Amino acid sequence: MKIGILGAMEEEIHLLGKEMTGCTSEVRGRREYINGQISGHDIYLAFSRWGKVAASCSATTLIERYGVDYLIFTGVAGGVDPDVNIGDIVIADNLVQHDMDVSFLPQMKEFEIPLLGRADFPVRQEEVEKARTAAENWIREELGEQVSAKTLEKFAIVAPRVICGTIASGDQFISDSNKILQLRQKIPNLRCVEMEGAAVAQIAYEYDIPCLVLRTISDKADDDAIIDFPRFITSVASFFTCGSVLRLLKEWD
Ligand code: SAH
Repeated sequence: MKIGILGAMEEEIHLLGKEMTGCTSEVRGRREYINGQISGHDIYLAFSRWGKVAASCSATTLIERYGVDYLIFTGVAGGVDPDVNIGDIVIADNLVQHDMDVSFLPQMKEFEIPLLGRADFPVRQEEVEKARTAAENWIREELGEQVSAKTLEKFAIVAPRVICGTIASGDQFISDSNKILQLRQKIPNLRCVEMEGAAVAQIAYEYDIPCLVLRTISDKADDDAIIDFPRFITSVASFFTCGSVLRLLKEWD
């Protein structure tokens, strides 16, 4: 199996890249695709950049040019469920593109992707469970070694959890409590918002391959969402997602 890993954080891609052996790389469409081995798996790794177009382009290149048959997308996200806190890891069991709306046509539902006949992209349950176990194991056994207690305290991260649910993606950074309230009313079981996951899920659906989207919560998508992002990503989020993904690859069966 060839596994494609895409990330929206350069720092995290850098950390994952350091774990790869036998690396070769190629630049296509202004992105670098790195091939190598992690835990005996053939991995293709790329920094997708942000947004649905960038993520879709990277995902399609991984499939069409490098022949990957499994996609993993990682990064940070804004938590919208009051139970989801900064530092929690959210694993998508369903994904929706919240900025897609052609519901002016009588037969179309809100969020429905035109001419595809669906408004959401469920993730296979066995993949969700595999990722959940790996992330929980990482939090329990490795987090303490990789991120200092002082750093966790700085971002008020007390007991991070792994939460599964719906992730909504759109081409906008959301920092507006009213907007999240509206989205929560329309999208059942919504846990967080970000800018790439549901686009990658659409590509995976169209090519009929499995995909996993795994996010560390960086903010609450509310009026205080503009936190100290660069510091959070370098000192917290990149370790959370990189650690969980490495654990997933190690435990893979
Ligand atoms: N790292 C950036 C800020 C990230 S914002 C910085 O250094 O300033 C864009 C990225 O964060 C996207 O990959 C998006 O998927 C994710 N993201 C995190 N919180 C978000 C929110 N509240 N709304 C939308 N996207 C969010």
